[in-house]
Amino acid sequence: MSGMDHPSAISCATCRACCCRLEVLLMGDDDVPVGLTAQDRWGGWVMRRLADGWCAALDRNTMLCTIYERRPMICREYEMGSSDCIGERAALDRP
Ligand code: SF4
Ligand code: SF4
Repeated sequence: MSGMDHPSAISCATCRACCCRLEVLLMGDDDVPVGLTAQDRWGGWVMRRLADGWCAALDRNTMLCTIYERRPMICREYEMGSSDCIGERAALDRP
């Protein structure tokens, strides 16, 4: 598996929250602090991202979500070990 993690080695605990750099589109039922949101260029509401690329809700020291109990639906459904997850990890590891 050239340069890729072996699936059994994949864990959020060994990851720098790669998926928290992705665009998180908010759904109608999501209830996150307004200050952590932003509008995209099409007028949709998304999680705001800071200059470093990560979501505004991410604790930069622990790399954990500070609104875990209120995190958006997209974040809840993102699956550890999925092909998306593996791809994000690989992308962040590339020099
Ligand atoms: S789901 Fe995947 S990409 Fe997201 S933090 Fe966990 S291991 Fe990293
Ligand atoms: S809301 Fe939390 S889980 Fe979702 S992208 Fe932001 S930091 Fe990650």
